[in-house]
Amino acid sequence: MVNLLQFDRAGLGDFCEQLGEKRFRATQLFRWIHQRGERDPAAMTDLAKSLRDKLAAHAVVEPLPVASEQVAADGTIKWLFDVGAGDAIETVFIPEADRGTLCISSQAGCAVNCRFCSTGHQGFSRNLTTAEIVAQLWHAEFTLRQRLGLAVGERVITNVVMMGMGEPLQNYAALLPALRTMLDDHGYGLSRRRVTVSTSGVVPMIERLRDDCPVALAVSLHAPDDALRDELVPLNRKYPIAELLSACRGYLARAPRDFITLEYCMLDGVNDSPAQAAALLALVRGDGGADSGLACKINLIPFNPFPESGLRRSSPERVSAFAAVLQEGGIVTTVRKTRGDDIAAACGQLAGEVRDRTRVAERTVRAVPVRIERGPGRRDSRRTGAPAAAPTRSTS
Ligand code: SAH
Ligand code: SF4
Repeated sequence: MVNLLQFDRAGLGDFCEQLGEKRFRATQLFRWIHQRGERDPAAMTDLAKSLRDKLAAHAVVEPLPVASEQVAADGTIKWLFDVGAGDAIETVFIPEADRGTLCISSQAGCAVNCRFCSTGHQGFSRNLTTAEIVAQLWHAEFTLRQRLGLAVGERVITNVVMMGMGEPLQNYAALLPALRTMLDDHGYGLSRRRVTVSTSGVVPMIERLRDDCPVALAVSLHAPDDALRDELVPLNRKYPIAELLSACRGYLARAPRDFITLEYCMLDGVNDSPAQAAALLALVRGDGGADSGLACKINLIPFNPFPESGLRRSSPERVSAFAAVLQEGGIVTTVRKTRGDDIAAACGQLAGEVRDRTRVAERTVRAVPVRIERGPGRRDSRRTGAPAAAPTRSTS
C-alpha cells in the first residue's frame, strides 16, 4: 500500500498514471486529502469510480499514530508521534490572536549536535519521509478544524516553521515535496512568506532551496565568530560564517522576504556579552568589506535549559542589553517569547523520547483531552467566546 501523504501534486499525478488513470485526476484527489482531510476513497464522490476502486486497492492516507498530546497553559499544544522502531517526533501548535503556527519536525533526532539543543544531544536516528512530515500538518489542521467545528475552507494553521526536531536541509529530498504540498493552492495554500525553513547552515542546500522552492529562511547563527560557532554548532567547521552569509545573500535574490531571519540562542556567559553584540552588528552590517554583511532581522531566543546541557539562560537584562546594541545599530531585533515551556514544547526542548518505547507507551496513557481557545478576529470567536491568546513579539 502506498501512503498518499507521500506525494506532492506532481508526484500524485505520476501515481495516477501508474494506476492507468489521467494525471489531472490527481488535483481532485489532492484536494480531498489536503483541503478536506478525507481518507476514504469511497467518500471522494467526484472521483471516477474506477479510480476510487484502484485507490482502495493500492493506496491509503495513513496518518501518524499519536503517542500523546499535551496542552500548555498558554494554549500551545504538543503532539508526540510514534514513528516506529522506538523513535518518536514532536510537533507543536502555537495559537496567537492573528495566526496559528505549526512547528514541524524533519528528522528523528539530529546529526548536527549543537551544544545547546536537546534534540542534538540525543543523536541522529533517521530522516522522516515526506509522508511523515506532511502527516504532522495534516493531523494538526484536521484535528483542530474538527474540534473547532470549522467549515471546509476555514484554516487553523496559517504558518509553518520547520523548527521542530532535526535539520531540515539534511533531509532535503523529503522536505521539498512536503514544502510544495504546503504551498500548493490545491493543498494547504500557505504563502511562501508564511512557511519558514530554519537551518543550522547547510550551505549547498540553501542554494538548492533558493532554486527549487524559495520560502522564508531562518538561519541559526548563535555566535559572531567562527571560533565560538565551531563549538556551539559543529557544522560551522564545514561551512564557516563567511560562506554561510554569502549563501544567505544569494538566497535573498529569490526569497519571498527581503531579509533573512538570524536566530541567536542566548547563553549566559557564552555568547551574550556587549562585545559579542558589537561583533554581531559589525558582521551583519558588513564592516568586513564589500562582499560581506546581510539584510537580516535578528531573533534572540532565551536558552531553554535541559538537564544535560550544562548551560544557563542569559538574564533578561543581559538579553535586553544585547538587543539594544543591535537595535541602536539599525538592525531589527526581537526577543522570542517562550511558548509552551510548561510542557517542554519550547525551542530546543523537543526530545521526542527517541529510542525509548517504554516512555512513549507511558505517555500515551497519560494523554489529556483538550479544548482549543481561539482569539477574537478569528471566524469562530463568536462560537467559543474565547479570550485572545497572549500576543507574542515573535514566533518565527
Ligand atoms: N535544525 C534547525 C531547525 C530546528 S532547531 C536549526 O537548527 O535551525 C530550531 C531553533 O531552535 C534553532 O534556532 C535552534 O538553534 C533553536 N534551539 C535549539 N535548542 C535550543 C534551546 N535549548 N533553547 C533555545 N533555542 C534552541
Ligand atoms: Fe539539530 Fe537544529 Fe538542534 Fe542543531 S539546533 S542539533 S541543527 S535541531
